[in-house]
Amino acid sequence: MDQVPRERLHHGPGDGWVQCACGQRHWGLVGAAGLLVVRRRAGAPPAVLLQHRAAWSDRGSTWAVPGGALQPGETAVDGALREAHEEAGVAPESVGIRSEHVLAHPDWSYTTVIADELVHVEAVVTDAESIELRWVPADEVPALPLHPAFADAWPTLLARISDGAA
Ligand SMILES: [Zn+2]
Repeated sequence: MDQVPRERLHHGPGDGWVQCACGQRHWGLVGAAGLLVVRRRAGAPPAVLLQHRAAWSDRGSTWAVPGGALQPGETAVDGALREAHEEAGVAPESVGIRSEHVLAHPDWSYTTVIADELVHVEAVVTDAESIELRWVPADEVPALPLHPAFADAWPTLLARISDGAA
């Protein structure tokens, strides 16, 4: 693992590793959450805003939605919006929350908050956790090296995005 920027090591009381009964360890003492922003344009397939994660991060160099550890007392929606703002410059008021999808492990959970782009969201890197932010057409997502938790959730997320009823 590469050098972790010092300020990320103890960023908040929710930051830390959980040794989960599934046999893996996960980032986020009270769970984690991410924001899946969906862009819908006439005549084009839906696209989603993905983050190419820094090499030093959990399962580094993979792609996933911007997100991270929840802080105690924070809802998944609040945490996902905060992380997306910190990591990807997504203004909370620029998206509309549609639904939440929870990936539940024995000792940990990851909530993907699905949101629609309401006003133009620029894909920009705003902190050291990102290598790149990119709008990816939904049908091209599986071709990327995905974070395992995001890869597990993707078929369900795609179904929710595709039927428009998310
Ligand atoms: Zn687990």
